[in-house]
Amino acid sequence: MFVLPTIKEQKSMIAGRSVNNVGQALKTEHPSILDLAALLSPAAEEYLPAMAARSAEITAQRFGRTIQIYAPVYLSNLCSNNCIYCGFSSDNKIERHMLSLDEAEQEAMILHKRGFNHVLLVSGEASKALSVDYLVRLAKRLKDKFAALSIEVQPMSTEDYGTLFKAGITSVAVYQETYDRRAYKDVHLSGPKRDFDYRLETPARAAESGMREVGIGTLLGLADWRLEGLALGLHLKWLRKNFWRTGLTVSFPRIRPAAGDFQPIVGVSEKDLSQLMFALRIFDPDVGLVLSTREESRFRDGMIGLAPTRYSAGSCTVPGGYGNPSYSGEQFAIGDQRGIDEVCQAIREKGFDPVRKDWDAAFQQTGKKEQKAA
Ligand code: SF4
Repeated sequence: MFVLPTIKEQKSMIAGRSVNNVGQALKTEHPSILDLAALLSPAAEEYLPAMAARSAEITAQRFGRTIQIYAPVYLSNLCSNNCIYCGFSSDNKIERHMLSLDEAEQEAMILHKRGFNHVLLVSGEASKALSVDYLVRLAKRLKDKFAALSIEVQPMSTEDYGTLFKAGITSVAVYQETYDRRAYKDVHLSGPKRDFDYRLETPARAAESGMREVGIGTLLGLADWRLEGLALGLHLKWLRKNFWRTGLTVSFPRIRPAAGDFQPIVGVSEKDLSQLMFALRIFDPDVGLVLSTREESRFRDGMIGLAPTRYSAGSCTVPGGYGNPSYSGEQFAIGDQRGIDEVCQAIREKGFDPVRKDWDAAFQQTGKKEQKAA
């Protein structure tokens, strides 16, 4: 089981880091968790250009000159949780809608026609309405049309993830939102998501089931971003050690305007986000780093080639919103509103190749037994 150090222990790891530690962290071949702490510390701020250069060098070595492109398909905005930062929060009076299997397939096929070969199926957490059975039936309809199907829905058991994997879903994203237990309790007012530890153990259950890829992340703006970065690094390291066959990604969503008008508890600037991404890239050269359309186009374009390996594009956060632009009930307001072609053009202009699929399900072999045999 992944055991998170206390906030006090995390703080002392970062507070003790000096500029000499940062210089050392930039030189070492295999950065330790204390090297990550140095790269996240205030002492690293003056090293930001050097961190960007090192991060870009590692990203090019491990991922070449490609950026993976994906888009979400929102299946439902029903949710049984009250998370005060989210438009789908059960307390918000928004128009609620859950797509039928036909509607969901139509939404996915709109993205298919736009050239996407990788879709992320997203929903609020309402396990009775959006059941495993619904996802299995949808996956069976979509799996031959897309190279990769990912989900970002309610946390599940290992067995349920195994069922979805067999149906054609190959990756799971589940964000802790914040690794700070006290902040977590303050922003998750009711619903099953109040259980911090169950959520913390979810990435391991997804990996255990045989999923090819697992995504973790924090919602920036709820707690100290330096500590969130350290906790992400610790979680990544633990997952790598225990599930060596599972690909790992990290997302860094910042809070966006949404129903409920929640304001970030702590500020996280673009400079802070850059430092966080560079630090994690240097710490874990193989991790996929996701930069979504929550961020503005100017910032996203500026980060091409420096650390991120995956961009969403042309996203809509309203269930059914691709086919029915008049629908309301979004999760949050998008920052980068450009269409897929414009995003791909911006990537090409930086000398990178936008790739609209990330993996071919036909080559899927990873399984629970193989992972355990490591
Ligand atoms: S963050 Fe997720 S669980 Fe919380 S209200 Fe939004 S959709 Fe529901």
